[in-house]
Amino acid sequence: MAFTLSIYPWVFYSRSDGNGGWHDTYVEKPHKTPAEEAALSPAQWQALLDQRNSFPELPLVNYTTQYGLGCFEGLKAFPQPDGSLKLFRPDRNGARMERSMIGLKMPGFPMARFVEANRQVVAKNAALGFRPQFQKEWEKDNFQNAEAIYLRPFSYSEPAIGLGLSTHPWVVVVATPVSSYFKEGSTAAVTTDKIRATPKGTGWIKCDANYVIPTLAKKEAEHQGYMEAIFLDAKTGQYIEEGSSCNFFAYLKNGSLVTPELGDTILPGITRESILTIAADLGIKTEVRKLSVDEVLAEATEVFVTGTAAGVSPLESLTHQGQKAAFSGGNHGEVSMALLKSLKGIQYGVAEDKHGWMVNVS
Ligand SMILES: *Cc1c(COP(=O)(O)O)cnc(C)c1O
Repeated sequence: MAFTLSIYPWVFYSRSDGNGGWHDTYVEKPHKTPAEEAALSPAQWQALLDQRNSFPELPLVNYTTQYGLGCFEGLKAFPQPDGSLKLFRPDRNGARMERSMIGLKMPGFPMARFVEANRQVVAKNAALGFRPQFQKEWEKDNFQNAEAIYLRPFSYSEPAIGLGLSTHPWVVVVATPVSSYFKEGSTAAVTTDKIRATPKGTGWIKCDANYVIPTLAKKEAEHQGYMEAIFLDAKTGQYIEEGSSCNFFAYLKNGSLVTPELGDTILPGITRESILTIAADLGIKTEVRKLSVDEVLAEATEVFVTGTAAGVSPLESLTHQGQKAAFSGGNHGEVSMALLKSLKGIQYGVAEDKHGWMVNVS
């Protein structure tokens, strides 16, 4: 299952009226029961999924498909021991989506409406049986292979061919099941000399266009036998910014957990923000500042990347211009394991949610 697309039947979309108003619609795409779908041949199942991923309501040629003028979010709903489903900090995703849209000079989709749409998509699919159920054995490896529902909200522009701004965008929300994000195997990372984001650019916006260069860099890294590419700052090439779609943390010999400070070139991850809070709760010293690649090579004992899809993923090594440093033998170090355990415990409802992060679906 990992991170593949098998869209659940209920899809949400909303259209901007260009005046601050939005018109919400929920669509039930073709489906059978989950059990009947599981019994289909691969070809039959793909045909059904293709119908669910086809949306005649939306135009083919527009600013989003032609020029990458669009933004998106990624958040999860987690099955709970009591049988319910809860979203993790959907208000933070909603606030970021609104900021992203305004950053792209579109009408912003209001945060409360975003939260409601995501709740409803999960609830309507769950009512049809499209949902994972909590399993006790997930706890054994701290939910590293547990299932969840991944929600993908995104903006989509009106029909257009010339360059221009989107004044009447749609916002769409689809849901798909997920388990672990990274494939088994190497977790080695390498710095890339490609530039993800430049000062005064769009690096702080979760926009479609920002994903082109990271995809190329990650594929180049994979081609060289690494799992992940790490981006350095555009001006000096000395400071770590982030991974291909995840934020970067290093735990140093002096007992400090460091993550690069945000600016306009680093995406403000909600997992990043949550890990900083959890680290403080656990009594781990945190620092948010510039972090040079040389400092990581010389001083780090653990390195990991964070994101909704990636969770808390340790890197076994980092290579920069032929110089390689290895960390915690490729496994979770003590610190990243403690952080992962706390985060997943809250998300899967087996640890106290003391910051009120979890939101009921229905
Ligand atoms: C989405 C994203 C992240 C992670 O953000 P989360 O809110 O933690 O999922 C990190 N970096 C980039 C570039 C991203 O697009």
